[in-house]
Amino acid sequence: MKAPVIMQTQAHKRLFLGLLAASLLGILFLIFGLWYLFFYPAKSALYHTIFLIILLFVAGGILLAALGALGIVITLLAAKNFPFLQAPIRLAIHLLYPAALALGRLLRIDKDRIRSSFVEVNNQLVKARRIKAAPDQVLLLAPHCLQWTGCPHKITVDVNNCRRCGQCYINDLLELRDRYGIKMGVATGGTLARKYVEEYRPKAIVAIACERDLTSGIQDVDRLPVLGVANERPHGPCRDTCIRIERVEEAIRHFIG
Ligand code: SF4
Repeated sequence: MKAPVIMQTQAHKRLFLGLLAASLLGILFLIFGLWYLFFYPAKSALYHTIFLIILLFVAGGILLAALGALGIVITLLAAKNFPFLQAPIRLAIHLLYPAALALGRLLRIDKDRIRSSFVEVNNQLVKARRIKAAPDQVLLLAPHCLQWTGCPHKITVDVNNCRRCGQCYINDLLELRDRYGIKMGVATGGTLARKYVEEYRPKAIVAIACERDLTSGIQDVDRLPVLGVANERPHGPCRDTCIRIERVEEAIRHFIG
């Protein structure tokens, strides 16, 4: 039976941004520590040379990541895309996201809250790029767990196997697909999701998943714009999950204008 969606409070961008800044600060302290080790105690010239190369390499990466973190804040504040900041922003996300998660664990902050905040930041960054695509260049990726557990139809093989009985949210998503003329795939995991991306070669993706899969998926295809919509799990993880259809529709409309 299709469960109603429970309204959840949306994650705030500030949580992820705060953790990002704190992680950056922590890494900077680490570099200062390494700098101290470089000078003291006195070691051989070879030791100094190797250490200096490593230090310069790490410091260069961190400086770029710091520029990326600043780029995220500037883009969010201006709600405008700055193409020259794209590469540092990607680096900042790849480098600092695991550090932000680790710091969150240390501070006992729920992982899904951090991931949700990251998805929110990502969505704002994607929206700032104002990318427009033809309907058939937009791919809607839905997770298998939206399908009613009692349904016998193999929709991961072909989503058109759905009989549109209305027992689960797959029917609502198919209605969106048909209304807007976009592509759609139902995936059991990252491998199948990647296969859909290779097959359809979309210009933009609207992805539905749990916070964990959304964050890894967004980072997996970081050159493609992905608007993420987290599903809701009134029956526990991976079982008869729900989605707020209006949020999915809003994301589709953002791309096709
Ligand atoms: S809407 Fe489609 S996928 Fe959902 S239960 Fe009905 S036939 Fe199965």
